[in-house]
Amino acid sequence: MIYFDNASTTSVRPEVARVYKKLIDECFANADSMHAPGRKTNRQLEQAREHIAHSLKVAKEEILFTSCASESNSLAIVGYALANQHRGKHILTSNVEHSSTKHAMDFLESIGFDVERLPINEQGIVTEEMVQSHMRKDTMLVSLMHVNNEIGSINPIEKIAKVVHMHPTCVFHSDCVQSFGKIDIPFEQLDMMTMSAHKIHGIKGSSMLMKKKNIVLQPLVFGGQQEQGLRGGTENAPANIVLAKTIRLALEEQKESYAHVKALRDHLAARISAIDGGHVLSPQDALPYILNVSFDQITSEVLLNALDEKGICVSAKSTCDSRSSQASEVILALNHSQKDASHAIRLSFSKDNTIEEADRFIEAVKEIIKNYGLSL
Ligand code: PLP
Repeated sequence: MIYFDNASTTSVRPEVARVYKKLIDECFANADSMHAPGRKTNRQLEQAREHIAHSLKVAKEEILFTSCASESNSLAIVGYALANQHRGKHILTSNVEHSSTKHAMDFLESIGFDVERLPINEQGIVTEEMVQSHMRKDTMLVSLMHVNNEIGSINPIEKIAKVVHMHPTCVFHSDCVQSFGKIDIPFEQLDMMTMSAHKIHGIKGSSMLMKKKNIVLQPLVFGGQQEQGLRGGTENAPANIVLAKTIRLALEEQKESYAHVKALRDHLAARISAIDGGHVLSPQDALPYILNVSFDQITSEVLLNALDEKGICVSAKSTCDSRSSQASEVILALNHSQKDASHAIRLSFSKDNTIEEADRFIEAVKEIIKNYGLSL
């Protein structure tokens, strides 16, 4: 199998899996129980929170464990908006966010918030100037992803944070799911930040929302005192504890993995551009982990299925939108043609992919085009 679908999810690191299995046996007690096993689980959970906070250079109380990035985005966006309506009702976001952000924004709009979706420019980003020119007195929240999950474009979130913070009543949330462990994130500058363990070779059902101390949220899952009363429900202690190791390893290997993946992406992009009818759709400065491409002769669906038959895994667009038959909205927003949007496939890489796999992918695509492709 060749797995080029790492933006969708990644394999679990063997060392993370080993620790997780051990924790399931040893830390099954409820972290809120008063007995000795409960206190042991709680101690390990709080140690993990401390280690994560240390890695991000933030305070321990600023780390909230959640079940997935979709939950973190929902809590950050809806939870913040509901708790801070007195600051205004205007929210800025973009028109290419992940569906969890998009649907959270749609919900807020349906209950009376004024949501403005900024378009991306030809590099696939929202600039700080665009944000600045749309800020209003009643703008209470700006939520923009760091790296786009379909094309890999990188928003200048450090500069955007500066612009947002010129407005003392507004805060900035960034969905950093596709950038965490891949490029540096300006954690200190962000009021809220979302990441997900399963995108960095961690366990599914494990995620985090970093939220600065001064940020007040309305809980969306009602329950007990867990996570400062902001997220009810028995803690998933084994997953939360092993998240500290997952994050440490991803950050330790960040530079080395980036260099490896960049060489792989550059090789593949050059070989795809050399194919008659082959196009690279990702912008030039995109994160190398995500490469969106198209071939004039073949639609996304046909190519995806034909590659699947050869044991090669790729996506047509974001996995959360993969059941919709519409052409990619992100590719269209980038001003590519309708044809490019319906022929686009997303290749996404990890430290485990090789140049040899890239070459096998190219040979497979050439063969598929020869067998199923329309003539140019
Ligand atoms: N945000 C982005 C940018 C993503 O790519 C994804 C997953 O594809 C998510 C959020 C949702 O992540 P999760 O599967 O952990 O809910």
